[in-house]
Amino acid sequence: MSVLTSEAVILRTWPVHEADLLVSFFTRDYGRLKGMAKAALKSRKRFGGALEPMTLARAWFAERPRQELVRLDQLEILRSPLSAPVDQTRMAVLSFYAEVIDEALPERDPQATVFRLVASVLEQTNAVRPEAGNHRAGVAEAGAVQPQSSGPAFAGPWMALTYFSLWMTRLMGLLPNIGHCMVCGETLGAGEVRFNAYADGLFCGLHANGSGSGLSADSWQLAQRMLRGPAASFAGEAWPRKRGQDLRRFTLQTLERHLERKLKTAEALARLGG
Ligand SMILES: [Zn+2]
Repeated sequence: MSVLTSEAVILRTWPVHEADLLVSFFTRDYGRLKGMAKAALKSRKRFGGALEPMTLARAWFAERPRQELVRLDQLEILRSPLSAPVDQTRMAVLSFYAEVIDEALPERDPQATVFRLVASVLEQTNAVRPEAGNHRAGVAEAGAVQPQSSGPAFAGPWMALTYFSLWMTRLMGLLPNIGHCMVCGETLGAGEVRFNAYADGLFCGLHANGSGSGLSADSWQLAQRMLRGPAASFAGEAWPRKRGQDLRRFTLQTLERHLERKLKTAEALARLGG
């Protein structure tokens, strides 16, 4: 029985027996796996704080003959969500990633592109707001207090969530060309783009389902830019919570329709105003 290793993201854990944990984790090289971490709750040495959901870690594990569960031997933290101050929005966004990946990806199906997406949005989600340090320094030096509302741009969790949701729908094959109406194929124009809860893709005003919603010009243009550029390229943009809200609703509807269930973590995000 050979021990395998891969970068991995921890998705969920369930306690079993005394101190064992059942762990769902998404590896770069082997796809999503379920494993048994023996005595995980006792062994700080082998697991440390790495079993916190959405920890990026290096994992060592072994296949077991005729067993569905792998044996998870060890985790070494590469990036922990606990390294940044606890923040309700950030935690809700991280939980959303974990639920979507856990629900959407089949087991043992390597998805390197999804892994790269997750690693990049984790970096953006966990980025620490820059003004905290600068602000204090500014006060000490000049005694001048900068207005909180116009601190340096910090895109943060809402941007990362928008990017993740859009790209997950694309990588799951659920996002047709967003430049054209799904019915007539006409080129869409900013401000006249519609979507609805019953079908993939976007529609012109003429072919929108009556119960549909509009996608704002900013969100539609944002979506097109996000499909062309890395998440990091949006880090410097101003990102009030409401920005891209309709785009997130569009992608969430698409994901939930295909998963055929409501995502539990989406409710928490909605309560936070997302
Ligand atoms: Zn049309």
